[in-house]
Amino acid sequence: MGSVTNGKTALITGASRGIGAAAARAFARDGYSVAINYLHSHGAATKLKCDIESRGGKAEIYRADVTDFDSVEAMVRSVVADFGQIDVLVNNAGIAEQKLFTEITQSEWERMLAVNITGVFYCTRAVVGEMIARKSGKIINVSSIWGITGASCEVHYSTSKAAVVGFTKALAKELGPSNIQVNCVAPGVIDTDMNSGLTEQDIWAINESTPLERIGTADEVAESILFLASDKADFITGQVLSPNGGMVI
Ligand code: NAP
Repeated sequence: MGSVTNGKTALITGASRGIGAAAARAFARDGYSVAINYLHSHGAATKLKCDIESRGGKAEIYRADVTDFDSVEAMVRSVVADFGQIDVLVNNAGIAEQKLFTEITQSEWERMLAVNITGVFYCTRAVVGEMIARKSGKIINVSSIWGITGASCEVHYSTSKAAVVGFTKALAKELGPSNIQVNCVAPGVIDTDMNSGLTEQDIWAINESTPLERIGTADEVAESILFLASDKADFITGQVLSPNGGMVI
């Protein structure tokens, strides 16, 4: 690949697997230094860093639970020490769970909101001060079509992802005068570990209700994130871009 660095650094949360890992590869290919956040998947994060470096890119891995503000702050300090500054923050780390509403426990509800929305707040809070001081930065949050339409048996997940949309819109208004763009991607059904529980029949039903007749790939979502981080998207803020194959129009 022989990447030429573009001098910018992207911190991507939950980048050890799935959409986050695909985004890390895409950003590295585009010349970004990539800060790969992970929680449990140390091996996968290390392998990703090695893959990027073997192609001439720059990457480092940072273990932090996005629900722990002290860990998030320590991670951000380390990224800044290693790379100088954070130009792009991708709030991608997330969890999902399918359950009847009447079976969601208090702790499951709290964990869902902690990872999927409080984590977005913590990471953004830890990064944004320097962006405001520089009057430059891009924040991309990963929501979901279910945050727009709501999904049966995923009330806690849908709630957290709807909150990501509200967070994005409100912060975009507040940070626009600081020349910081805040946008959101809301993917449809994507082929990652998060959907490993889907049966062939489930996939068939999803394909049937999707105009493009297939589920998406992590690489396709990564391209939407990369676009929103680029200077091609300098006049776009507070928006929701939904790579979903036409499932939600
Ligand atoms: P995935 O394959 O399950 O990967 C989830 C990633 O999040 C992993 O890298 C995991 O890290 C990380 N993570 C989870 N909890 C974390 C925490 N507390 N702190 C730090 N990292 C944490 O999921 P995915 O499909 O790529 O999903 C990525 C994002 O896209 C999520 O926000 C998800 O809701 C959203 N999304 C996915 C789909 C889909 O169909 N797949 C559709 C719409 C939206 P470790 O493995 O290192 O713990």
